[in-house]
Formats: sequence, structure tokens, C-alpha cells
Amino acid sequence: MSARIIDGRAIAKELRALNSAKVEELKAAGVEPVLAILTPEGDPAAGAYARSLAKAGTKRGLAVNTVNLPADVNQERFAELLKDAEAGAHGVLVMRPLPAQLDEDLVDSLVDPTKDVDGVHPENAGLLALGRPRFVPATARAMLHLLKSTGVALVGRRAVVIGRSPIVGKPLFQLLLAEHLTVTVCHSRTVDLPGVAREADVLGVAIGRAHMVTPDYVKPGAVVLDAGFNWNDELESEQGDVHPDVERVAGWFTPVPGGVGPVTTQLLLENALRAAQINRQGYEL
Ligand code: NDP
Repeated sequence: MSARIIDGRAIAKELRALNSAKVEELKAAGVEPVLAILTPEGDPAAGAYARSLAKAGTKRGLAVNTVNLPADVNQERFAELLKDAEAGAHGVLVMRPLPAQLDEDLVDSLVDPTKDVDGVHPENAGLLALGRPRFVPATARAMLHLLKSTGVALVGRRAVVIGRSPIVGKPLFQLLLAEHLTVTVCHSRTVDLPGVAREADVLGVAIGRAHMVTPDYVKPGAVVLDAGFNWNDELESEQGDVHPDVERVAGWFTPVPGGVGPVTTQLLLENALRAAQINRQGYEL
């Protein structure tokens, strides 16, 4: 058996067209959408991602202001930079990894929850947990979007998510639960991880370890969604958390590159356009 590839690039193309239409709608209503991205200095991956978002946004008519976060930025200075960035934008994204001296929880709480395109503010995480989502982290949204694109029936099926980070694993759990799957969340302390994963009709993977999920983790015919984005210096390419051999067992899978990544970019931009809609009334930029 050979799995069907879920083509993230083709799906991202469809989303690009929808985003362009949303930009036109906003412009017709007199709103020029602006996203601010705070990027930690000296992190090549964060810098490259910020540049690719800026390029993708500006191409579609979403202005992107990038703000450099100095490596030695303290909490007070960070708060000032964030406030300034928010004053000139409808949406704001703080890229990770943060400089080590910053308190991540505090950073998440400082973001204006109505501009929080990454869905990291406790208010947005709470709304998602209550089943009233406002801003949902784009990677988790991308995984659900790709899953739905398969047309596979979801209600009542078993899902397993490997990873419990606030930015991928936990929001994916909430999204799958809202679609009426029965969801198990696994992590580094899970006993018999391959055995638990093999129960899944839908397997969502967000670990950060290249090719860790091998065919023995996968139920024949399952849909496998891979958020993994692990840079390999030798290959000069990224690798997923899922081993390519999984293709022999799964029914569907998202490739890396070309799966979750490009869809995440478009859904993040969509979150920014949504922030512009939310913030349009009474807003002078
Ligand atoms: P985190 O490091 O925040 O979380 C990793 C999770 O994996 C943790 O819950 C951890 O468990 C679990 N884990 C680690 N090792 C094991 C193991 N051996 N067995 C079982 N579980 C394990 O990572 P993120 O969620 O931020 O990112 C995960 C992956 O997704 C990365 O490759 C990242 O690059 C990628 N990513 C991709 C994005 C995209 O747009 N494509 C965006 C964001 C992330 P525990 O909680 O017990 O420590």
C-alpha cells in the first residue's frame, strides 16, 4: 500500500487566492491591513521565516513591519518595542525562540489579545479551550485544514497527537476534539508511544525530532499530519518528524517540505487579516 500525499503547496495556492480577496474587501472598506513581526536578532531560522512571511504578505497587499529584537533585550525594553509595534499594526507576531532572558509566559500575556495572530495570549488559548476560537495558532489550523482536505470522515474516529506545546500540540487537540474525534495527547513521558500511536485513525505529530515516527507507529490507512520542521545542514533542507517510510503504511500523509509549512504561512496571514477586521472600527494607524 502506498499513501496518498496531501499536497500543502496546492492547498496554500487556494488559500492565497482567498487571502487576496480578503485584502481587497478590507481595502474597499478603507482598511490597509498591517502586520508587525518582532524577530529575535541572530536566529537565522526565525529571520528567514519572518522574511518569507513579509514577502508572502506584501505580495497580497498586507503590509508587514519587521522589528528587530536585540539579543540583549530586557523585559522592560521588550514591552516598549511590543507596544510601539502594536500601535502601528492590526496584528502582531512575536517570533520564537525568544532571547533566553525573556519570560515566555509574560511575553505571551503582554500581547494585545485582539492583535494576537499567533494565538498565544491566555485569553485566546482559553477561548479555544471553551470552543469559542478567536485566534488559533496557524500550524494547528493548517494540520486540521489539510486533514479536512482528504475528505476522510472524522466524527467518532480516534486521533492521537504527539506533542503538547501551546503552539501546536494543545491547539491541535482542541481542534480535533471540536470536530468530534476522540483524542489522546502523547508526550515525552508517554509509555509505549508506538502502541498508543497505532490506535490512531488520525495521527498528528509535533515533536521536533527528525524522522522519529517510523512505520511501526502507524495504523494501516491512517492520516498522518507532520508539523516537524527540522533543518538538516548536510541535506540543506528541512526534515519532518515522520520518517518517509511511513508512506508504506499510512493512507494519507503530509510531506516535509511541502505539507504543513506552506499552509501555515497562508493561515497565519489569514489570522492577520482577521485581526485587521476585528480592529478596524475606531482604529487610527
Ligand atoms: P516543543 O519543543 O515546544 O514541543 C515538543 C513536544 O514533543 C513536547 O510536548 C514534548 O514532550 C514532545 N516530545 C519531545 N520528545 C519526545 C519523545 N521522544 N517522545 C514523545 N514526545 C516527545 O515543539 P513545538 O511544538 O514548538 O514544535 C514541534 C515541531 O513542529 C518542531 O519540529 C517545530 O519545528 C515544528 N513547528 C512547525 C511549524 C510549522 O509551521 N510547520 C510551526 C511550529 C513548530 P514534553 O512536553 O513531555 O516535553
